[in-house]
Amino acid sequence: WDYRCKPSYLALIFSILLVSYSRSYFPLLIFEYATSGWNLNVMPVLDQSVLCHINADISGMKVPWLYVGMVFSAFCWHIEDHWSYSINYLHWGEPKTWYGVPSLAAEHLEEVMKRLTPELFDSQPDLLHQLVTLMNPNTLMSHGVPVVRTNQCAGEFVITFPRAYHSGFNQGYNFAEAVNFCTADWLPAGRQCIEHYRRLRRYCVFSHEELICKMAAFPETLDLNLAVAVHKEMFIMVQEERRLRKALLEKGVTEAEREAFELLPDDERQCIKCKTTCFLSALACYDCPDGLVCLSHINDLCKCSSSRQYLRYRYTLDELPTMLHKLKIRAESFDTWANKVRVALEVEDGRKRSE
Ligand SMILES: [Zn+2]
Ligand SMILES: [Zn+2]
Repeated sequence: WDYRCKPSYLALIFSILLVSYSRSYFPLLIFEYATSGWNLNVMPVLDQSVLCHINADISGMKVPWLYVGMVFSAFCWHIEDHWSYSINYLHWGEPKTWYGVPSLAAEHLEEVMKRLTPELFDSQPDLLHQLVTLMNPNTLMSHGVPVVRTNQCAGEFVITFPRAYHSGFNQGYNFAEAVNFCTADWLPAGRQCIEHYRRLRRYCVFSHEELICKMAAFPETLDLNLAVAVHKEMFIMVQEERRLRKALLEKGVTEAEREAFELLPDDERQCIKCKTTCFLSALACYDCPDGLVCLSHINDLCKCSSSRQYLRYRYTLDELPTMLHKLKIRAESFDTWANKVRVALEVEDGRKRSE
């Protein structure tokens, strides 16, 4: 191991070679494989998967990538976009060695890397997201970062958890396939990730709020566990939105216009301050037509008077609780049904006894 180095372009090309035309190495014509949830093409469209609800083109996250490895080709320390899960299957060849760090130590790892390679971070603050930082796991461990390792052999899956940093290398010629996925338990991590991106001024791959609202709009199609999780998330989101709109009123902004944000391209709805992709609301100005801000940055739009600024909103504050209520009905539908069954059985039981 080099203490820290940028991988050569050759190694990089071999370690992240995308075979875009074949898309997947899983047999798709044999029924058993074509419909199996373990087929990484099928996984993103399963009921309990969240990303299947996104219409926008996020193929980089939903379509599996293929990786050709050669001896010592490496993949650098990274976490997945939006802190999603990833699943990796090694089709054939020599093993892939993985190093992993639990999510609780993610900030510790980032802090150690920044401390040991300040010159790199000064020139590229977003370094860890560019997949080019190798660091000896022993170095991280000597600074108190917990690191685990495993060898993945052909025919084995490796799953990485939300915000769990991982890196590794190939022990020889091999061929792997990987895809991102998000389940109900990921939703809180996904929301915290957006807050984190906001502080880093990092672009989002998709709008988290839009994803939640899209699922909330069709509650009857949601997997029951997912409905419970979406309800919890949306409750928090609505509370936050109320607080932000109240602050806007207090600033003196009273004009408002509805906007179907999901129809706008992402680059027309990014906050000019933090780059977040707006969905529930944004602040704009009649006199400064280019650009808008998210409601966390209402003082960074322009110098114009508040009377010239206006709220662009997707839903009114009355519509949001209605959506929440429908989610709640779906989330509680199993309990409602189970209660009805219990009552029916008790009645039946009572009848039998009285006979
Ligand atoms: Zn912002
Ligand atoms: Zn203005």
